[in-house]
Amino acid sequence: MFDNLSTKLDKAFKTLKGQGSITEINVATTVKEIRRALVDADVNYKVAKEVTDKIKEEAMGRDVLISVSPGQLLTKIVYDELTQLMGGEKQDIVIKGEPAVVLLSGLQGSGKTTFAGKLASFIKKQNRTVLLVACDVYRPAAIDQLKVLGEQIGVEVFSEPENKNPVEISQHAIEYARKNNKKVVIIDTAGRLAVDEQMMREIEAVKKAINPSETLFVVDSMTGQDAVNTAKTFNDRLNFDGVVLTKLDGDSRGGAALSIRAVVEKPIKFISTGEKMEALDMFYPDRMAQRILGMGDVISLVERAQQQFDEEEAKRINQKIRKNQFNFDDFLSQLEQIKKMGNLKDLVGMIPGMSKAIKDVDIDDDAFKPIEAIIKSMTKQERAQPELLNSSRRRRLAKGSGTDIQQVNNLMKQFEDMRKVMRTMNKMSTTKGGMQQMA
Ligand code: GDP
Repeated sequence: MFDNLSTKLDKAFKTLKGQGSITEINVATTVKEIRRALVDADVNYKVAKEVTDKIKEEAMGRDVLISVSPGQLLTKIVYDELTQLMGGEKQDIVIKGEPAVVLLSGLQGSGKTTFAGKLASFIKKQNRTVLLVACDVYRPAAIDQLKVLGEQIGVEVFSEPENKNPVEISQHAIEYARKNNKKVVIIDTAGRLAVDEQMMREIEAVKKAINPSETLFVVDSMTGQDAVNTAKTFNDRLNFDGVVLTKLDGDSRGGAALSIRAVVEKPIKFISTGEKMEALDMFYPDRMAQRILGMGDVISLVERAQQQFDEEEAKRINQKIRKNQFNFDDFLSQLEQIKKMGNLKDLVGMIPGMSKAIKDVDIDDDAFKPIEAIIKSMTKQERAQPELLNSSRRRRLAKGSGTDIQQVNNLMKQFEDMRKVMRTMNKMSTTKGGMQQMA
């Protein structure tokens, strides 16, 4: 996401490189290029013009400090303006009421049902009980899809397959939630392929009848300018509270993220970056601006890691590292944790400087497969005592895992290197007591 835009902005800033000061002429050229980069990224033209006019005005009014180059100063100005454009402050979803009700709207295929599952899982992790409600009265498959997701994340799904009245289904679901001590109800409504009067009337009626504390509009960011137009249409009818942008992991040029707030005047609250249940992030305008400018997004990365990593498991592994007992079972468990964090390329892209570097590199989630296969071919004893793995055992592993001896040897070497680093860290910690802080 945003790779093209980041590259183009980077190029635009370079035109200022080597220039000692910001002048009307050099800013005008750079700003024009920034505008073109934004429009190419599918940002609404009017929005792109407004924001670049502001950037220009800001840049001209500033004295260049000796310690920063005009390029750096302009980057900062662009960063500030993009952050403002996307709403400035992060806006939280409002979950209030007994039970609290969240209503989801959006076109079919936007990723609404997937998001319903993600949001339920997100809320469940905060130790609140959730009820998912399947309110698509036209597509029985949509009910099944939600049930599958519910099972996967351990959240109950309410449906009334025979009932064709979404208002009634929602009301019954809320009653059911009250009786069964569910604190949050998430209602997945029916979508259509395009905006449709009947769909609008239906969801309006549901909203009026149940008075949700939060109504979210879910939209596929890959649809670019259409995403913004659809958002506007839905907002005129529903007056929703926030936007969920999906499929930002795909080929989306990101324009929707940049224009929606300005055009619809409603905040983006979540972004979805993959099909896995964990691929959900809260939307932080400042972090997104950092990402667009290729500054990486370490904060989101750390937060996602914190959410996914199991505290107890981390403590256990840490103990083993300290006792020099880290083995292949622990290695495998660490791989599982990393995989749970979501798409690998996405994760690496959050590291500053990496998103450009990996733009053309094919990283797929299958990268771990041979490693896993090799470890899984080991006996219990071999996993616990890797020093047992002599060359004949290694040949057996290669055969058993469908890899070759080179791959097995590489893995052994990586593992040995890792253990060496761990031993050194342990030594340092016994001399300086520093390991505690690393834990
Ligand atoms: P609905 O019709 O709005 O309920 O949409 P679905 O939730 O069924 O999603 C439509 C398709 O998009 C499914 O194949 C999902 O797996 C996929 N999808 C949903 N969210 C994302 C996302 O953030 N990234 C990607 N790559 N695919 C997604």
